[in-house]
Amino acid sequence: MFLAYAVLLVIATHWPGSGQPGEGLDSPDKLMHFLCFGGFALLLWMTGWFRRFWAASLIALAFTILAEATQSLLSVNREASGLDIAAGILGVMTASAWMSTFGTREHLIVRQQELRSRFILDELMGSPTNWILIGAAFGIPTVFVSLTIYLLAWNVAALSIGNIALTIGLATGAMIGAGMVLRLVAPYRERVERDHPCFDCGESLREVALDDLGNGTCPSCGHAVHASQWTTLSSSNASMQQLLNCDGPVGLVCLVFYLIIAVVIGPIALLMSGHAGLASAILYTGIGVSLAMIWQWRRTRRRTSLERSGEQCARCRADLTDIECIGGIGTCPNCRTEFARHATVEGDGDAAFDAVKND
Ligand SMILES: [Zn+2]
Ligand SMILES: [Zn+2]
Repeated sequence: MFLAYAVLLVIATHWPGSGQPGEGLDSPDKLMHFLCFGGFALLLWMTGWFRRFWAASLIALAFTILAEATQSLLSVNREASGLDIAAGILGVMTASAWMSTFGTREHLIVRQQELRSRFILDELMGSPTNWILIGAAFGIPTVFVSLTIYLLAWNVAALSIGNIALTIGLATGAMIGAGMVLRLVAPYRERVERDHPCFDCGESLREVALDDLGNGTCPSCGHAVHASQWTTLSSSNASMQQLLNCDGPVGLVCLVFYLIIAVVIGPIALLMSGHAGLASAILYTGIGVSLAMIWQWRRTRRRTSLERSGEQCARCRADLTDIECIGGIGTCPNCRTEFARHATVEGDGDAAFDAVKND
């Protein structure tokens, strides 16, 4: 998959630019560079060839610069413009921000909850029909909206706004595509609750006995499992105070400044000076990096909350240390929220920890 993409990308960037847009015409070329090389970096990372995300980033960066530089040497009608390279690099940077947010925790309950999401996603994407449905839900509106806006502006006002049209088109497509994913994922969720699969090998564990703390081992693959892994555990809603504790007020101010510069001032300034392509690439970087930060923050919050699941209620924050928890899942006496515990609270959780570390 990754190799096919890399080959396609090289061909696409070196294809003789047939009828390159003339002077002053705004083609979504920069945006394509941004998306293509960003996607390249992400796919490279997903091959699992690199342990550290920055290794994949560096290679993707080198590839971007190389691909852009050889453009002018190898093909007719194509020029390696600094702006193209810049757009490509921004794409790789945004992808890197996302890569840095992936990684696993060793706490059994957290690990199983995260594996559960990944398992459902894998199941969903394992069906070609779903690929087609999601692809169509994303692709058709993207093309339709982009073309409509572009042609309308061109015919009515003689404006060429390829980048803006494509941006609006992509946003529409992403929303409709996400709606389709949400619709399709529901039956897979139910199946996990019903079949109790092992998230490492897929085998149903309905018949497998778990101990008093809800711990067990998959007989087929030997991975640790916990009774709580087939239910969605709730995690606490963080208050503004917790958000501030996370990065401190300075962090929050930095984030806001960054957002203003990356999403508002930068693109507008470039748009004014006629660099619409680069403006949209920077806008995408700003949005992409911000989303990565929000995602990371949400996940840290969920992890912390889940790690303390057996000690403090995620919803009402009641002390749960003395509440009995048979079979690994208990219920908060105050608000009836479910909680999970995989080891006795008074230490001795190391045995369960070690079981997870060995994979
Ligand atoms: Zn298994
Ligand atoms: Zn509670």
